[in-house]
Amino acid sequence: MTKYEKEIYFIINHSAEHLTASQVFSLMKEQFPGIVLATVYNNIHKLCQAGMIRKLSIEGSPDRYDRIQRHDHLICSGCGKLSDMVFLNLTEPLRRQVGHSFLSYSLQVFYLCSECAKSASPPKSP
Ligand SMILES: [Zn+2]
Ligand SMILES: [Zn+2]
Repeated sequence: MTKYEKEIYFIINHSAEHLTASQVFSLMKEQFPGIVLATVYNNIHKLCQAGMIRKLSIEGSPDRYDRIQRHDHLICSGCGKLSDMVFLNLTEPLRRQVGHSFLSYSLQVFYLCSECAKSASPPKSP
């Protein structure tokens, strides 16, 4: 791995946020002031291809990047907030059903976070 790949891998694996490429870029710039966004994109792409990190594609928001360790995601349909959750591991049942060509899966569960649920409920009459 190049020093950039190592650092990006480290950043993504040690972040509880789900960083976008431009957020990774800002963090990288603190250490490598000369780095350009395209370099960050290229290195992120390489890490994804190598299966070291994964990309989260969510409709209506930029791609984010996450550690590879198995976990699922809760997504607020109101504000787009993304949180990690661990649901049943469906790898085995999926492998049984799909067969040996099965590769991986990712689960996105949509909900309304407490903030959005509050503002979605009709105002109480006095
Ligand atoms: Zn929300
Ligand atoms: Zn995650």
